[in-house]
Amino acid sequence: MRKPIIVGNWKMNKTPREAEEFMVAMEAYLTGEEKADYGVGAPFVDLDACVRNAKHLIVAAENCNEKDSGAFTGEVSVPMLKEVGITYCIIGHSERRTYYNETDEHCAAKAKRLFADGIVPILCIGETEAQYDAGETADVIKSQLKGSLAGLDADEVARMVIAYEPIWAIGTGKSADQTIAENCCKLVRDTVKELYDEATAESVRIQYGGSVKPENIKSYMACPDIDGALIGGASLKVDSFKAIIDATK
Ligand code: PGA
Repeated sequence: MRKPIIVGNWKMNKTPREAEEFMVAMEAYLTGEEKADYGVGAPFVDLDACVRNAKHLIVAAENCNEKDSGAFTGEVSVPMLKEVGITYCIIGHSERRTYYNETDEHCAAKAKRLFADGIVPILCIGETEAQYDAGETADVIKSQLKGSLAGLDADEVARMVIAYEPIWAIGTGKSADQTIAENCCKLVRDTVKELYDEATAESVRIQYGGSVKPENIKSYMACPDIDGALIGGASLKVDSFKAIIDATK
């Protein structure tokens, strides 16, 4: 039985003080008895404040570098994240692929390095609007998965989280309807089965992301191949995140 996992992606929002206020408010609300895992993806400088105030919430970094150390100005390594107490890390978000040239090869290297330190990658994949319109969604999903999972063992993939996020749905309010989201998440699972085996495919947790909010999250969570959500805008306010928890606990 896969445990649902719902993670907020704050992107470049919240100062450390704002992050701490959010964590304190959310932790006062959670009991630890919830049926799903809940968490936040936070900017690097907020991570320490998040971890220090986390009791039940998962704290995820939003990126990492695959190298251990060296002359890579502005980058943050996996050992640094581990020492802060990070247990999950988002990789390959479409904003990183689009604005910072992150490729499937980078994702594969980052995922391998994260697993070496016991940090679970949340790998993001998804097609652009033009690819969707051209009917290329399935090809994009398969090729991103093949590239980003390259070199990972079955037991690693079984433990990871894959977020299917159609780029046309991110931050647009144009969420994918339930059927599209389920079909694409099922394709992710079928592709993992093709690349690995049935047990791995049955174990990997797959999220839908793209304009998820308190009003629509239930429809996604009702789908057999959707195990959770990666949520941007609607994860920023305590009230909205509480409403998401209320809709899914
Ligand atoms: P959104 O962002 O919920 O604001 O659409 C999702 C994401 O980028 O992960």
